Amino acid sequence: MTYVGYLDLFEPHGRSAPEQTISLRLIAVPATDLTTIPKSSAAVLEYWGTLQPIIVDAEVRQDWWDGTGARGQGERAPGEGPRGGRAPLDPRQNEGRWFSFELGGGGPSTPAAMHTTLNFTTQNVPLCNLTAIDLQSSVGTMIRGRFRMDAVATVSGAACVDALPSGPVVSVCVLSVGQGLAVRVVIDDEAAIWYDLGWNLEGMPFDPAVRPRAGDAVVLSHWDYDHIGGGLEQWRERRDEMPRVWIVPSVRRTISPVAAELLGKLLSAGFTVKAWGRSPPAPLPNAPPTPVVGIGPHITIARPEPWSIVANDSGIVMTFHVPCSDGSGPAAVLLVGDARYLHIPRFSPAYDFLAVKHHGSKHGIGQPPRARPGGVAVYSHGGQHKHVHPESFAAHRGADWLQQHEHETPKGPKAYP
Ligand SMILES: [Zn+2]
Ligand SMILES: [Zn+2]
Repeated sequence: MTYVGYLDLFEPHGRSAPEQTISLRLIAVPATDLTTIPKSSAAVLEYWGTLQPIIVDAEVRQDWWDGTGARGQGERAPGEGPRGGRAPLDPRQNEGRWFSFELGGGGPSTPAAMHTTLNFTTQNVPLCNLTAIDLQSSVGTMIRGRFRMDAVATVSGAACVDALPSGPVVSVCVLSVGQGLAVRVVIDDEAAIWYDLGWNLEGMPFDPAVRPRAGDAVVLSHWDYDHIGGGLEQWRERRDEMPRVWIVPSVRRTISPVAAELLGKLLSAGFTVKAWGRSPPAPLPNAPPTPVVGIGPHITIARPEPWSIVANDSGIVMTFHVPCSDGSGPAAVLLVGDARYLHIPRFSPAYDFLAVKHHGSKHGIGQPPRARPGGVAVYSHGGQHKHVHPESFAAHRGADWLQQHEHETPKGPKAYP
């Protein structure tokens, strides 16, 4: 059966060929589904609400990747030069690309694990004929018509902040969800803000005592599966407790089928979904992108690179203050999701608490924000995951951070301060 899939994760491991392997995650729908949906906004939203994407995880050797059609001869994204030759090994050039592939067919194949989003049973299948889709082709045009956020009205950052529960932040907890990120920002007994909802292919990532509730709000850093998968789990197991307010980044390129699935479910349930729009492009061609900011009395959100085509960098970051129990003054907290530090607005010269960017990946660390004395940086990565790179440790140590690892704490919340 032929599928079209969004490359949600592309992670090269190792240092030398041919041992070098690449982790791939494709989020896909049957290719035949695309042809049955007319390209109108209403039909697209209805389509999203009925989606049942599959998730395909494979660990492939680099020579297998090179030998597929993955190099996408002649393919180009807006503003990029022509591609060709060896397939690029840079995640920033691969994540968000679309591929066609077959599961269970003949020919050269690689073993893959297939999951469905709302029933995480795993099936082992051969993956073959992986071929990059040119978004200017006829299939690419169908994908662009069905997986763009243009159908969802966008709002300003101020409108997003206004929709969040009001009141000072009481505490912040980085949950142990394995791969991915879920941070619970407690406002009072009645309401919390969740910064991402994590991912856990083994089932519900949340402890029964510390899970999202209907009165809570969610701020999504970006649409990658390891930040939204727990939302689908919550929908499956505790739909009545699904948070009713969602602040999400509106993205320039396509979203993945699973992002569309979640968005379709939220919209069809009548929940409040504020899609934070994109800012105008920078005035000069080579000027650095201007972050857009939404400022509230207690919480500030920003989009560091709203025009980036890279999901990790075009999302939402959050900063706020938490009163300290020892009376030493409010602690400054920074939550950045997977965004590079480079363009994150300098809300404060130094911080007391940081959820480390991108689960400790080495990509795009640059200069981490500085820690105040005793500042704690938490790595949310899961015990088995390959992020948490030594370069990330070193860079954060160099910025004076003390470090904690969520997988070394018992499952459940880690409260700070
Ligand atoms: Zn992530
Ligand atoms: Zn990400």
